Amino acid sequence: MSDQPGCSKLTRRQALQKLAAAVPVTVVAASAVRAMAEAPAAKPAAAPAAAGPELKLVPDTDATAKALKYVPDGTKATRVDKMGVAGKDQSCKNCQFYTKAGEVKGQEVGKCLMLPAGMVNSTGWCMSWTKKA
Ligand code: SF4
Repeated sequence: MSDQPGCSKLTRRQALQKLAAAVPVTVVAASAVRAMAEAPAAKPAAAPAAAGPELKLVPDTDATAKALKYVPDGTKATRVDKMGVAGKDQSCKNCQFYTKAGEVKGQEVGKCLMLPAGMVNSTGWCMSWTKKA
C-alpha cells in the first residue's frame, strides 16, 4: 500500500538488494574515472613524503574555534577565574582537553579534543578551558 500513486513499496530486503547491486557499479565507475584522471600525472612511487606528520594549526576561519572564542595567545583573551584557577594562569597547556603533539616554529602545540580541525598553541585559550585533572 502506498500513499503516492505509482510508488510501490519495497521491503527492507529488496531495498538492500538493490543497493548492493548498485554499489559495485558505482565503485568501478569511480575507480575508472580516477585512474584516467591520474594516469598522465602518474609518478614513480619512490617520491618521499615530507619528514614527519604536519602539525597544522587550527585555522582562524574554523567555526568551532570562533564559537569557543579560541585565541592562540591566551593573554589576549578575557579569562575569568574558573575552577579555582586564576584567569591569567589558564592556557591550553593546563587544560583537560589538551595533549602535546610537538612544536611549530619553536612554539609547543597540541591536539585539543574540542578543536579537531588542527593543533592549538600551548599558550592558547578558549572559553571551554577546563582544569586538567
Ligand atoms: S578546550 Fe582547552 S585545549 Fe582546547 S582550545 Fe580550549 S583551552 Fe585550549
